[in-house]
Amino acid sequence: MVIKIVSLFSVATQKFITPLAIALISSLIVLVPLSAAQAAYRFIDAGGLPTRWQSKDESGITAIRYAIATKAVALRADSDEGRIKIANQDCKVTNAPSASLHNSKLSYDDLRQALKLALQLWEGAAPLRFIAVYDVEQADLVIGEGELGLVAAAGLEVIPQPQDGFAEIKRGIVCLSRNEGFAVMGTEAKWNLTRVLAHEIGHVLGLDHPSVSQERAIRENIFMDYRKEGIRPGLAPLSPLDVAGIQALYGDFTSGLVMSSK
Ligand SMILES: [Zn+2]
Repeated sequence: MVIKIVSLFSVATQKFITPLAIALISSLIVLVPLSAAQAAYRFIDAGGLPTRWQSKDESGITAIRYAIATKAVALRADSDEGRIKIANQDCKVTNAPSASLHNSKLSYDDLRQALKLALQLWEGAAPLRFIAVYDVEQADLVIGEGELGLVAAAGLEVIPQPQDGFAEIKRGIVCLSRNEGFAVMGTEAKWNLTRVLAHEIGHVLGLDHPSVSQERAIRENIFMDYRKEGIRPGLAPLSPLDVAGIQALYGDFTSGLVMSSK
Protein backbone atom coordinates (compact mmCIF):
# COMPACT_ATOMS: atom_id res chain seq x y z
CA MET A 1 0.00 0.00 0.00
CA VAL A 2 1.35 3.37 -0.92
CA ILE A 3 -0.05 6.46 0.70
CA LYS A 4 0.88 9.65 -1.04
CA ILE A 5 1.33 12.68 1.09
CA VAL A 6 3.96 15.00 2.43
CA SER A 7 4.13 17.88 0.08
CA LEU A 8 5.99 20.97 0.77
CA PHE A 9 6.10 24.64 0.39
CA SER A 10 5.26 25.90 -3.03
CA VAL A 11 5.52 24.84 -6.63
CA ALA A 12 8.91 25.23 -8.27
CA THR A 13 8.53 28.46 -10.15
CA GLN A 14 6.11 30.11 -7.76
CA LYS A 15 7.17 31.43 -4.42
CA PHE A 16 3.62 31.27 -3.14
CA ILE A 17 1.37 28.33 -3.54
CA THR A 18 -1.79 28.79 -5.57
CA PRO A 19 -5.25 28.07 -4.22
CA LEU A 20 -5.58 25.26 -6.77
CA ALA A 21 -2.32 23.70 -5.64
CA ILE A 22 -3.43 24.00 -2.03
CA ALA A 23 -6.65 22.18 -2.90
CA LEU A 24 -4.74 19.44 -4.73
CA ILE A 25 -2.21 19.01 -1.95
CA SER A 26 -4.87 19.07 0.74
CA SER A 27 -6.74 16.31 -1.03
CA LEU A 28 -3.65 14.09 -0.76
CA ILE A 29 -3.12 14.57 2.94
CA VAL A 30 -4.70 12.35 5.56
CA LEU A 31 -4.71 14.07 8.89
CA VAL A 32 -5.04 12.57 12.34
CA PRO A 33 -5.46 14.90 15.28
CA LEU A 34 -4.99 12.98 18.57
CA SER A 35 -7.69 15.00 20.28
CA ALA A 36 -9.75 18.07 19.73
CA ALA A 37 -7.50 20.09 22.04
CA GLN A 38 -4.47 19.23 19.89
CA ALA A 39 -6.16 19.75 16.57
CA ALA A 40 -4.01 22.76 15.59
CA TYR A 41 -1.08 20.48 14.83
CA ARG A 42 -1.39 17.19 13.03
CA PHE A 43 0.43 13.93 12.68
CA ILE A 44 1.40 11.85 9.67
CA ASP A 45 -1.24 9.15 9.29
CA ALA A 46 -0.40 5.49 8.76
CA GLY A 47 -3.58 3.47 8.42
CA GLY A 48 -5.40 5.59 10.98
CA LEU A 49 -2.49 5.81 13.42
CA PRO A 50 -0.19 8.73 14.16
CA THR A 51 3.46 7.88 13.47
CA ARG A 52 6.68 8.36 15.41
CA TRP A 53 10.14 6.90 15.85
CA GLN A 54 10.54 4.39 18.68
CA SER A 55 14.34 4.32 18.73
CA LYS A 56 14.84 5.34 22.36
CA ASP A 57 18.28 5.01 23.89
CA GLU A 58 18.90 4.05 27.55
CA SER A 59 18.21 7.60 28.72
CA GLY A 60 14.81 7.70 27.04
CA ILE A 61 15.96 9.99 24.25
CA THR A 62 14.81 9.14 20.74
CA ALA A 63 18.04 8.67 18.79
CA ILE A 64 18.10 8.91 14.98
CA ARG A 65 21.23 8.30 12.87
CA TYR A 66 21.48 10.53 9.84
CA ALA A 67 23.66 10.92 6.77
CA ILE A 68 23.82 13.01 3.65
CA ALA A 69 23.29 10.71 0.66
CA THR A 70 26.47 9.49 -1.06
CA LYS A 71 24.48 7.40 -3.55
CA ALA A 72 20.83 6.80 -4.44
CA VAL A 73 18.86 5.64 -1.40
CA ALA A 74 15.37 4.27 -1.99
CA LEU A 75 12.53 3.64 0.41
CA ARG A 76 12.09 -0.10 0.85
CA ALA A 77 9.48 -2.17 -0.93
CA ASP A 78 6.03 -2.18 0.59
CA SER A 79 6.26 -5.88 1.37
CA ASP A 80 9.59 -5.65 3.20
CA GLU A 81 8.95 -6.47 6.88
CA GLY A 82 5.41 -5.24 6.49
CA ARG A 83 6.61 -1.70 5.98
CA ILE A 84 4.57 0.83 4.09
CA LYS A 85 5.85 3.86 2.28
CA ILE A 86 4.44 7.28 2.99
CA ALA A 87 5.98 9.62 0.50
CA ASN A 88 5.50 12.31 -2.01
CA GLN A 89 5.41 10.79 -5.48
CA ASP A 90 8.79 12.32 -6.27
CA CYS A 91 10.61 11.42 -3.05
CA LYS A 92 10.80 7.64 -2.99
CA VAL A 93 14.51 7.83 -3.83
CA THR A 94 16.98 10.46 -2.68
CA ASN A 95 20.33 11.02 -4.38
CA ALA A 96 23.72 12.43 -3.50
CA PRO A 97 23.35 16.22 -3.52
CA SER A 98 24.94 17.72 -6.60
CA ALA A 99 22.71 19.82 -8.85
CA SER A 100 20.83 21.31 -5.88
CA LEU A 101 24.13 22.62 -4.49
CA HIS A 102 25.61 23.58 -7.85
CA ASN A 103 22.49 25.53 -8.89
CA SER A 104 22.51 27.32 -5.53
CA LYS A 105 26.28 27.94 -5.56
CA LEU A 106 26.50 26.17 -2.22
CA SER A 107 29.22 23.87 -0.95
CA TYR A 108 28.77 20.51 0.70
CA ASP A 109 29.78 22.17 3.98
CA ASP A 110 27.01 24.75 3.51
CA LEU A 111 24.52 21.88 3.31
CA ARG A 112 26.02 20.23 6.40
CA GLN A 113 25.79 23.50 8.29
CA ALA A 114 22.16 24.10 7.28
CA LEU A 115 21.26 20.51 8.16
CA LYS A 116 22.93 20.75 11.55
CA LEU A 117 20.99 23.92 12.36
CA ALA A 118 17.73 22.32 11.22
CA LEU A 119 18.32 19.23 13.39
CA GLN A 120 19.27 21.39 16.38
CA LEU A 121 15.93 23.20 16.16
CA TRP A 122 14.09 19.91 16.78
CA GLU A 123 16.63 18.69 19.36
CA GLY A 124 15.96 21.87 21.29
CA ALA A 125 12.21 21.22 21.35
CA ALA A 126 11.95 17.57 22.49
CA PRO A 127 14.19 14.72 23.75
CA LEU A 128 15.57 13.88 20.29
CA ARG A 129 19.17 13.23 19.31
CA PHE A 130 20.47 13.16 15.76
CA ILE A 131 23.73 11.25 15.33
CA ALA A 132 25.81 11.78 12.18
CA VAL A 133 26.98 8.62 10.45
CA TYR A 134 28.92 8.42 7.21
CA ASP A 135 27.59 5.15 5.83
CA VAL A 136 24.11 5.74 4.40
CA GLU A 137 23.37 2.04 4.94
CA GLN A 138 23.64 2.71 8.68
CA ALA A 139 21.51 5.85 8.62
CA ASP A 140 17.85 6.04 9.67
CA LEU A 141 17.48 9.43 7.97
CA VAL A 142 19.11 10.25 4.62
CA ILE A 143 19.21 13.74 3.12
CA GLY A 144 19.67 14.17 -0.63
CA GLU A 145 18.12 15.55 -3.78
CA GLY A 146 15.71 14.52 -6.52
CA GLU A 147 13.68 15.64 -9.52
CA LEU A 148 10.78 17.37 -7.83
CA GLY A 149 7.90 19.58 -8.83
CA LEU A 150 8.23 21.02 -5.31
CA VAL A 151 10.96 22.79 -3.41
CA ALA A 152 11.56 19.72 -1.27
CA ALA A 153 9.73 16.61 -0.07
CA ALA A 154 10.04 13.76 2.40
CA GLY A 155 9.35 10.04 2.48
CA LEU A 156 8.93 7.54 5.31
CA GLU A 157 9.01 3.79 5.86
CA VAL A 158 6.47 2.94 8.53
CA ILE A 159 5.37 -0.26 10.25
CA PRO A 160 1.63 0.30 10.54
CA GLN A 161 1.00 -2.05 13.50
CA PRO A 162 0.37 0.04 16.62
CA GLN A 163 2.94 0.33 19.42
CA ASP A 164 1.53 2.36 22.29
CA GLY A 165 -0.98 3.76 19.82
CA PHE A 166 1.60 4.86 17.26
CA ALA A 167 2.80 3.39 13.98
CA GLU A 168 6.59 3.12 14.03
CA ILE A 169 8.75 5.12 11.63
CA LYS A 170 11.76 2.99 10.64
CA ARG A 171 13.42 5.16 8.03
CA GLY A 172 13.09 8.58 6.46
CA ILE A 173 14.47 10.37 3.43
CA VAL A 174 14.45 14.01 2.43
CA CYS A 175 14.68 15.19 -1.18
CA LEU A 176 15.75 18.71 -2.12
CA SER A 177 14.79 19.89 -5.58
CA ARG A 178 17.60 19.91 -8.12
CA ASN A 179 16.01 22.93 -9.78
CA GLU A 180 15.60 25.37 -6.90
CA GLY A 181 17.91 28.03 -5.54
CA PHE A 182 18.79 27.66 -1.85
CA ALA A 183 20.86 29.70 0.55
CA VAL A 184 21.83 28.55 4.04
CA MET A 185 19.79 31.28 5.69
CA GLY A 186 17.78 32.39 2.67
CA THR A 187 17.89 35.56 0.64
CA GLU A 188 15.23 37.56 -1.12
CA ALA A 189 15.72 35.32 -4.15
CA LYS A 190 16.60 31.94 -2.62
CA TRP A 191 14.90 29.53 -0.29
CA ASN A 192 16.11 29.34 3.28
CA LEU A 193 17.75 25.91 3.18
CA THR A 194 17.78 25.52 6.95
CA ARG A 195 14.11 26.23 7.15
CA VAL A 196 13.22 23.96 4.25
CA LEU A 197 15.23 21.14 5.86
CA ALA A 198 13.61 21.78 9.26
CA HIS A 199 10.16 21.53 7.65
CA GLU A 200 11.03 18.24 5.90
CA ILE A 201 12.61 16.80 9.02
CA GLY A 202 9.41 17.70 10.86
CA HIS A 203 7.61 15.39 8.43
CA VAL A 204 10.23 12.69 8.94
CA LEU A 205 9.59 12.96 12.69
CA GLY A 206 5.85 12.41 12.19
CA LEU A 207 4.36 15.90 11.86
CA ASP A 208 2.02 16.87 9.04
CA HIS A 209 0.88 20.33 8.02
CA PRO A 210 -1.17 22.00 10.77
CA SER A 211 -4.81 22.97 10.56
CA VAL A 212 -4.46 26.69 10.97
CA SER A 213 -5.25 29.66 8.81
CA GLN A 214 -2.62 31.16 6.56
CA GLU A 215 -2.82 34.37 8.60
CA ARG A 216 -2.08 32.52 11.82
CA ALA A 217 0.69 30.46 10.21
CA ILE A 218 2.45 33.63 9.07
CA ARG A 219 1.83 35.53 12.30
CA GLU A 220 3.15 32.67 14.45
CA ASN A 221 5.92 31.70 12.02
CA ILE A 222 4.83 28.05 12.00
CA PHE A 223 7.51 25.84 10.40
CA MET A 224 5.15 22.95 9.61
CA ASP A 225 2.85 25.15 7.56
CA TYR A 226 3.71 24.78 3.88
CA ARG A 227 2.17 28.05 2.77
CA LYS A 228 4.81 30.16 4.46
CA GLU A 229 7.46 31.45 2.12
CA GLY A 230 10.87 30.00 2.89
CA ILE A 231 13.03 32.75 1.49
CA ARG A 232 13.17 35.06 4.48
CA PRO A 233 16.78 35.69 5.49
CA GLY A 234 17.77 34.64 8.98
CA LEU A 235 16.29 31.86 11.04
CA ALA A 236 13.51 32.12 13.59
CA PRO A 237 12.95 29.57 16.37
CA LEU A 238 10.25 26.94 15.99
CA SER A 239 6.79 28.25 16.81
CA PRO A 240 4.97 27.15 19.99
CA LEU A 241 2.65 25.10 17.74
CA ASP A 242 5.60 23.22 16.19
CA VAL A 243 6.99 22.58 19.67
CA ALA A 244 3.63 21.38 21.02
CA GLY A 245 3.30 18.98 18.10
CA ILE A 246 6.74 17.44 18.49
CA GLN A 247 6.32 17.15 22.26
CA ALA A 248 2.99 15.37 21.77
CA LEU A 249 4.95 12.71 19.88
CA TYR A 250 8.19 12.50 21.86
CA GLY A 251 7.48 14.09 25.23
CA ASP A 252 9.17 17.12 26.70
CA PHE A 253 12.46 17.16 28.57
CA THR A 254 10.72 16.40 31.85
CA SER A 255 9.17 13.24 30.47
CA GLY A 256 12.56 12.29 29.04
CA LEU A 257 14.05 12.46 32.53
CA VAL A 258 11.18 10.41 33.94
CA MET A 259 11.76 7.74 31.30
CA SER A 260 15.47 7.58 32.09
CA SER A 261 14.80 6.77 35.75
CA LYS A 262 12.90 3.60 34.88
ZN1 LIG B 1 5.29 19.84 4.10
